[in-house]
Amino acid sequence: MSGTLPLIFDQSRAGRVGARLPACDVPRRDPADLLGPEYLRDRLPLPELSELDVVRHFTRLAHRNYSIDQGFYPLGSCTMKYNPKVNEKVAAFAGFASLHPLQPEETVQGSLALLYELQCMLSEICGMAATTVQPSAGAHGELLAMMMIRAYHRHRGEAHRDVVLIPDSAHGTNPASAARCGFRVKPIPSNARGCTDIAALEAALNENVAALMLTNPNTVGLFETDILRICDLVHRAGGLVYCDGANMNAMLGLTRPGDMGFDVMHYNLHKTFSTPHGGGGPGCGAVSVQPCLEPYLPVPLIRREEGTSGPVFRFDYDRPLSVGRIHSFYGAFLIAVRAYAYIRALGAEGLRQVSENAILNANYLRVRLAEHYEVAYGNQICMHEVVLTAEPQKRRNGVRALDISKRLMDYGFHPPTNYFPLIVPEALMIEPTETESKQTLDEFVNAMISIAREAQEAPELPRSAPHTTVVSRLDETAAVKHLDVRYERLFCDSEPAAGD
Ligand SMILES: *Cc1c(COP(=O)(O)O)cnc(C)c1O
Repeated sequence: MSGTLPLIFDQSRAGRVGARLPACDVPRRDPADLLGPEYLRDRLPLPELSELDVVRHFTRLAHRNYSIDQGFYPLGSCTMKYNPKVNEKVAAFAGFASLHPLQPEETVQGSLALLYELQCMLSEICGMAATTVQPSAGAHGELLAMMMIRAYHRHRGEAHRDVVLIPDSAHGTNPASAARCGFRVKPIPSNARGCTDIAALEAALNENVAALMLTNPNTVGLFETDILRICDLVHRAGGLVYCDGANMNAMLGLTRPGDMGFDVMHYNLHKTFSTPHGGGGPGCGAVSVQPCLEPYLPVPLIRREEGTSGPVFRFDYDRPLSVGRIHSFYGAFLIAVRAYAYIRALGAEGLRQVSENAILNANYLRVRLAEHYEVAYGNQICMHEVVLTAEPQKRRNGVRALDISKRLMDYGFHPPTNYFPLIVPEALMIEPTETESKQTLDEFVNAMISIAREAQEAPELPRSAPHTTVVSRLDETAAVKHLDVRYERLFCDSEPAAGD
C-alpha cells in the first residue's frame, strides 16, 4: 500500500481551477441583492485544484477502502455477499431512478406493480400474509414491529403488556428497538447448546409479556430446533413472537418463519437480497406480518385492483388501525428494485441454492478450521455462519480475537465480526456467504492456519498487526467517539503558498 497521502489542501495553488464555466451571457445581478448581505462570505476556504488533482485525491482515498468487490469479506451477521452488477443497472434505469415521489399514480403504474409484486414475493418467501418495504434498515423494521405489537395489545385492551423477552445472544438493535418503543427488556439466557433455554423462557412468561424477539438461525449460527415449542409457549401466554430475519440467507426456500409460528419479522434486503451495504448507506428492513398484525402495517401499502383494461395499482391509505408512516414517501424505492431484480433473476430454485451454498460454505470453513481453532458450542453443524472462540490462543499465548483479525488484514482479508455475539468470549464470527468459491475459502483457511501457527511460535506478530496498512492500530473508541473529518481548520491555519 502507498505511503502517506498528500493532503488535498497542501496541493492547493491560488487561481488553479478544475472547471471553466462559459462566460455569462445574461445581465449579472449582484449576489447581495439576491440573497441579502448577511448570507455572503468574503472568504471561502476551499482548496484550489485542477480536475486531475481532485480525481487523484479521491481515487487514492478509494483505494484505501476495502470492499466486497475487492476481496473476501466474512463479516458475520452482515452477509457481505457479492451483489450482481445487473441489479445496479436495473436500479439505474431512468424509469426508476428519475421518478418523482409525488407523480400521479397513473404515471407510475410499473413501479407500483414492482412494489406490489415484491410485497407478495417477500410474504411468500417467509410464509406470512402481508409485507411493507417502508423501513430503511433492519433496526427500523424492528422498531416498526415493536410499534405494531404495542398497537395490537392496546387494541385488545391489554396495554399492560410491557415486557419484551430477548435472548442474551441477540443483536444489540433488538433490545434498543424494544426499549425505544417503551417496552421493558428481559434477557433470556442461552443453554449449553447455544440455543434458547426453554425453562428460563417458561419462567419468564406471564401476563405482562408483549413479545419474544428471536433471531433464527440465532447469532451463534445455530438453528433453534425447539422453535415450534418456543412459539407455542409464547402464544399461550398471550404474547407475540418476532423474528429478526437478518439471517434469512440461511433459510431461503428451505424453511419459513411463518411456518415456524412467528407473527412478524424483518428482512434486511440489503443483506439477503443483494444491495451493497456498509458505511451507513441506504437499506431496506422490509417487515412481514401474519393476519393478526396486518391492520397495523404503515401506510401506504400498495393495493391491486381490477380495472376495465387489466390490473391497476394504488397507494392504500385507508387503514384506520395503521401505526402511520415510518418513512418519508414510500421508503428506499431503488433498494426494492434491486431486491426485485435479484429475486426474479434467481427464482425459487435459485434462492434455495443461495441458502444451501451459504450453509455448505460455512460448514466447510467450520470443519477445516476446527483443527486449529475452537468452535463455539462444541462444533455442531452450523447454518450460514460459524463462530470460533480465540480463548485457547489467548490463554496459551496472549493472542486475542482482535489480534487474529488485525493479522488477517496483512493476509489481504477483511476481518470477521469480533466480540459478537456477546455470550462467546473472544468471538470470531465468520460468514462466508454463497458467493465465494472454494479457492477463496481455501486461501482464507490457509491464512487462518498460518495465524494459528504464528500465535504459537511468534505471538508478537499477530499482537502488533497489521503491518501492511497505512495506519496500524487505532484507538478505536476515540475514533468513534471523537470522529473529526473536517479539513477546514487545518486549511485556514496553514495558508497555502500563493502562485506557483
Ligand atoms: C444487521 C443486523 C440487524 C440490524 O440491521 P440494520 O439494517 O443494520 O439496522 C439486526 N439483527 C441482526 C442479527 C443483524 O445481523
